[in-house]
Amino acid sequence: MPNIVNEIKLDFKDVLLRPKRSTLRSRSDVNLHRNITFRNSKQTYVGVPVMASNMDTVGTFEMAKALAKYSLFTCIHKYYSPDEWKKFSQENPECLKHVAASAGMGENDFNRLSEVLQAVPGITFICLDVANGYSQHFVDFVRKVRTNFPSHTIIAGNVVTGEMVEELILSGADIIKVGIGPGSVCTTRMKTGVGYPQLSAVIECADAAHGLQGHIISDGGCTCAGDVAKAFGAGADFVMAGGMFAGHDQCDGEVIEKNGKKFKLFYGMSSQTAMERHAGGVADYRASEGKTVEVPYKGNVEATIQDILGGLRSACTYTGAGKLKELPRRATFIRCTQQLNNIYT
Ligand code: 5GP
Repeated sequence: MPNIVNEIKLDFKDVLLRPKRSTLRSRSDVNLHRNITFRNSKQTYVGVPVMASNMDTVGTFEMAKALAKYSLFTCIHKYYSPDEWKKFSQENPECLKHVAASAGMGENDFNRLSEVLQAVPGITFICLDVANGYSQHFVDFVRKVRTNFPSHTIIAGNVVTGEMVEELILSGADIIKVGIGPGSVCTTRMKTGVGYPQLSAVIECADAAHGLQGHIISDGGCTCAGDVAKAFGAGADFVMAGGMFAGHDQCDGEVIEKNGKKFKLFYGMSSQTAMERHAGGVADYRASEGKTVEVPYKGNVEATIQDILGGLRSACTYTGAGKLKELPRRATFIRCTQQLNNIYT
């Protein structure tokens, strides 16, 4: 007989943050920086823990330059060559502490990652990203990377449950990427029926990780700055987004003009577009296909950054959190049946 979990699990859209009395005077009193020392690498990170995803349209060097100005983080996609990395690091040494080099689990991935890390010793973060972080093969891969790079901070995912968060941390990962199916261009839930409501996944996985002095990233499903605030409130140490950073000047790809309107192409890493682009190289990267969409062109990403940071500061002010780190302690989530008034959309 199949098991059924009857407890209701929640997404960002199912809740709102309750405001609380506070002594904060203004949004500018809020500190969004976090200072984190990682469990396995023992490295220390200082920054605003919002991340651009390692998708090839969004996780670009251009994005990293813009985000690093505000101390935000970019997981750089895995398709840059060691020479491109070298050039980037020489021209932008100040960005290096806010980027990770990514790899999947494909045959060449480990070698390519090793070459990049050798070419640019200043990189301290590695992002190991697979669609399904539940395979023993992936656990073994994390161990191999940990053995070879003992002092790099390792991000690994994606998973959505506490037991796998623990397994990956105990296998050498420092930060676990949480999210299966919530992404804006992801079709996993449609294709496979597999997934986990993101807010509940973050609450449960954060608890498991923090119990071991590990950390987590809430990856995917944020549609607006309010969702980013909810993810932090749920206990995420970092919040990663793809769609929210898509469509900007800093993204890969040309601006498309149609009927006087401007767009940019954005696609899932296992979409047809991504597979064609990387010539079969990503066929096994994501368990399921992703979508290809044309998103409205949004100009410079700095406006979006300011929107996210402004929203986060305001969420902290409403809940009385002087620092981003305090947000989970101050957060009470109210279940709701409607959160937005859509009359004018
Ligand atoms: P978003 O912020 O756009 O909602 O979600 C971004 C996340 O979606 C990425 O960081 C990655 O984890 C996930 N993702 C990216 N491409 C694909 C894809 O093709 N298929 C699936 N299942 N997930 C994807």
